[in-house]
Amino acid sequence: MNILELINQGSYKLKSNKIISHKLDSEILLSKVLQKQREEILINLNKCIKFNQILEFKKLIERRLHKEPIAYILKEKEFWSKKFEIDKGILIPRPETELMVEKLAKIFRNKKITLLDIGTGSGCILISLISELRKSFGIGIDISKIALSVAKKNALKYNVYEKIKLYNRSFTDLYNQKFDLIVSNPPYLESRILNNLDEDIRKYEPLIALDGGNDGLDVIKKIIYKAKAILKINGMLAIEIGNGQFNKISILLKKNRFKIEYKINDYKDNCRCVISTFLGK
Ligand code: GLN
Repeated sequence: MNILELINQGSYKLKSNKIISHKLDSEILLSKVLQKQREEILINLNKCIKFNQILEFKKLIERRLHKEPIAYILKEKEFWSKKFEIDKGILIPRPETELMVEKLAKIFRNKKITLLDIGTGSGCILISLISELRKSFGIGIDISKIALSVAKKNALKYNVYEKIKLYNRSFTDLYNQKFDLIVSNPPYLESRILNNLDEDIRKYEPLIALDGGNDGLDVIKKIIYKAKAILKINGMLAIEIGNGQFNKISILLKKNRFKIEYKINDYKDNCRCVISTFLGK
């Protein structure tokens, strides 16, 4: 069988289970098996594929057929132009989170800051920011050990391991240190909607990284409260938030002496991130 036939076969199978990106996914999975760039296989459509590679490809198609996200099959996801290693148990970095990184990289350009990333996961936010803010230092914390071991690999891969520290702990256990910036993409979905998520997410992504309790705000409330103790005066708090949560969160922030500086909308025009300054107690 040649490349074209295999791509079509895989794509046809994925389409039968209503996978919208069936063609692209099939191409990506075949590139993975052949260890070639997708562009390269697309210009060699007549090339024949070895039997063992066909079998391997079919296995990957089978995984995707069961809605396993491509990022978990490839064990990587691109974020802010870097390829982050990921694994099951770690949230797949999302493009909307890049919008928060972009804004923060602008705000703190050329500054020397100490930042804390709460729930660092793959380390995508922390590592992207520290690669931009070369004079700065960062701490990433996560309650998941798997996340930290993967974040460490990513930090080594992108040469920022010297400039960060990773700790396996909850933010509620942080004391004696003050930051210029606290950033977090916390779990913010309402528990009752978790069952309605796409199968790709519901069956494969870690609930602990998504579930924000009854109103979705459980963790966000705690972060805001804790931030008052560990942010410098005029330090900034940047949090990613869920759909429709902005009004409640802005009230919480104001109550806790934060001044909202920026609201960032995502690609669907939902307010996805709030950046505020701590005015002091
Ligand atoms: N900080 C990581 C990310 O943005 C993980 C966030 C999480 O697990 N909630 O992808």
